[in-house]
Amino acid sequence: MERAVVLRRFLMFAGCLLWSVVATAEWYTNEQAIMGTVIRTELWSDDPLTAAEAIRLVNEEMHRIDRSMSTYKPDSEISRINRDAAKNPVTISAELLELIARGIEMSRLTHGAFDITYASVGQLYDFRAGVRPDEKQIAATLPAINYRFVELDLVERTVFFARQGVRIDLGGIAKGYAVERGAGILRAQGIAHGLVSAGGDSRVLGDRRGAPWIVGVRDPRNSDRVVARLPLIDEAISTSGDYERFFEEDGVRYHHIISPATGHSASEVRSVTIIGPDATMTDGLATSVFVMGVDNGLQLIDSLDDFEAVIVDQHGRLHRSGGFLPPKK
Ligand code: AMP
Ligand code: MG
Repeated sequence: MERAVVLRRFLMFAGCLLWSVVATAEWYTNEQAIMGTVIRTELWSDDPLTAAEAIRLVNEEMHRIDRSMSTYKPDSEISRINRDAAKNPVTISAELLELIARGIEMSRLTHGAFDITYASVGQLYDFRAGVRPDEKQIAATLPAINYRFVELDLVERTVFFARQGVRIDLGGIAKGYAVERGAGILRAQGIAHGLVSAGGDSRVLGDRRGAPWIVGVRDPRNSDRVVARLPLIDEAISTSGDYERFFEEDGVRYHHIISPATGHSASEVRSVTIIGPDATMTDGLATSVFVMGVDNGLQLIDSLDDFEAVIVDQHGRLHRSGGFLPPKK
């Protein structure tokens, strides 16, 4: 055969091979009920086995984190801490130790608006059952809210509560941490375009092949309406809202984000959405800014590089951080 013919045939063969690879690449999506929310994984892959394995690993990781960090599971690490850490130092995993340390850092950054010991009072609420503490119970338990009572020994890997009645709950950052871990798993499986979300927290990898991912910020009082659409590439986004877990009594909305200063649900805003490079941070900051309110919250976000915020206030008005505003002339 002439060399030109061989070359042409080879190129045709290679072209077919390439075409078959490109033609079979597609989006894979999966949803699972884990951690009391819906875990959604989306990814682009040319291999169904790789896609299935990546999804399996993400879901397995979510179950693992839930087993360790759920306060609803009596045998979780966090439940063990809450039971024993006021009596004696409790030895815990390096992973939980680090996440508690990040929670404490978030408290320092937000001057206590974020505080994992909110649960000292927070444990008295049951939003599904419509149960809340009365003023007497709040007054009795409020003094146990203070992140300074949580003493970590990084060498011995222990946690100790310096006061009786202290409880911790990582609900304000754990889902962000989990989706960050999930995105890391996708990356390790060679996935370049994907998304992992857990309720209000999402982490996207790359773009949506040629276009950014678009994540909508819902109207806090109408789940069918979107008040903003945010284009994202390689970024995390978290929304904290007063519509996620709540009940109403005599016209008052009792919901799951608690002001550590009062022990009551924070009431200045309806939702906070934060975007930034790390989902543990966006999750923690969304909860924090919800407690801080519009002015203090935007001031904090504007002081941080790489993070932006969209807030819906108590009147339904939209507020944005500096990076979202058109440049001043
Ligand atoms: P998110 O939906 O991320 O804003 O998280 C709300 C969850 O954070 C609640 O369900 C609680 O587990 C936890 N939480 C509530 N209030 C606070 C607070 N002031 N600081 C830290 N975590 C909180
Ligand atoms: Mg949060």
